Amino acid sequence: MTDNVYAHEIQKFGSMAELWWDKQGEFWTLHAINPLRLKYIQQFTDINGKRVVDVGCGGGILTEALAQSGANALGIDLSGDLVDVAELHALETKTETVNYQKIAVEKLAEEQPESFDFVTCMEMLEHVPDPGSIISACAKLVKPDGMVFFSTLNRKPKSFLLAIVAAEYVLHMVPKGTHEFKTFIKPHELCQTARTAGLELQGMIGIEYNPIAKRFSLGKNIDVNYIAVFKKQA
Ligand code: SAH
Repeated sequence: MTDNVYAHEIQKFGSMAELWWDKQGEFWTLHAINPLRLKYIQQFTDINGKRVVDVGCGGGILTEALAQSGANALGIDLSGDLVDVAELHALETKTETVNYQKIAVEKLAEEQPESFDFVTCMEMLEHVPDPGSIISACAKLVKPDGMVFFSTLNRKPKSFLLAIVAAEYVLHMVPKGTHEFKTFIKPHELCQTARTAGLELQGMIGIEYNPIAKRFSLGKNIDVNYIAVFKKQA
């Protein structure tokens, strides 16, 4: 078992579990960016027929979409409440190729090394005490030559203003207290840790928000929220 978890983070997300699938609710931003991240993943790997693990899956927004795109998808999270919500939602939508488990990624990596065609770990690294340990475990889970996708928040004054001040307090895009600036991760830090874990950078893209149009798009600007994709060296 790992201690690489903040109990308050699990409690915070778990307490909002029943709101997870409300597309206009507290987690609307995850719903809004989901088609974009799915599209980005598809630029690097086929999804259909692939075995994938979604680490820190929450209520399963991405996990379920991956399964509906043909993957055999496993979602893992340390919030039992969120795993329950994810399972229930998959039952409601009759998504059969998805499973969920409450297990630490480090433990799963011990049990099933090199078992997954690709790994996703979205908006999660900034919520754990030791992101490096999560990155290493993701690297261990993926098969040689397989892809690992991470998304997180960049640590810059601009991301403090946009991801915390604007998103939490001015525009009320995400619940107050969702993010803590010091846990944000600069792209070069992510790349360096990933490289040490045997992962080679393949691409990086920003998730940009237009507050006038109230729309997200993928673009070159990685100042705030970004996705990075890596390939495990064979
Ligand atoms: N990846 C999902 C949810 C992001 S919210 C998505 O992008 O749609 C962050 C998630 O990380 C929450 O579900 C929270 O319970 C989970 N989490 C936080 N710390 C964790 C840890 N140590 N291990 C596994 N999951 C964790």
